[in-house]
Amino acid sequence: MTDCLFCKIVAGDIPAEKLYEDDEVLAFRDIAPQAPVHFLVIPKKHIVDPSNVSEEDERLIGKLIRIGSQIAAENGVGDGFRIIFNNGAKAGQAVFHIHMHILGGKDRPWPM
Ligand code: 5GP
Ligand code: ZN
Repeated sequence: MTDCLFCKIVAGDIPAEKLYEDDEVLAFRDIAPQAPVHFLVIPKKHIVDPSNVSEEDERLIGKLIRIGSQIAAENGVGDGFRIIFNNGAKAGQAVFHIHMHILGGKDRPWPM
């Protein structure tokens, strides 16, 4: 999607501090961290939000959790981190390309 911020990060048109990348998934640090460790894990495929996950995307979305957990451990917060998906502007979603937040490094890293 040409007009999507995270698709532009996937394409390399906007820089990001990448933590992991393969052909399906990209993880990068959040530009405005809300915890000592705060990064986003996204599918390279443009999916708008959790409500738009189709049956064929189920494996891919599960992979976000597996990869995100590995990165959390590599960044020293494997023993405690929070996963958040925002769905819709009302919930605080600002970028409409599905993304999984992982926050760790302090007690109960919430609210966003
Ligand atoms: P949302 O509120 O949509 O769930 O989360 C979007 C997240 O993307 C926010 O935490 C925000 O700080 C982060 N973000 C927005 N623009 C950029 C950017 O250009 N680069 C990076 N790395 N993160 C961004
Ligand atoms: Zn996108």
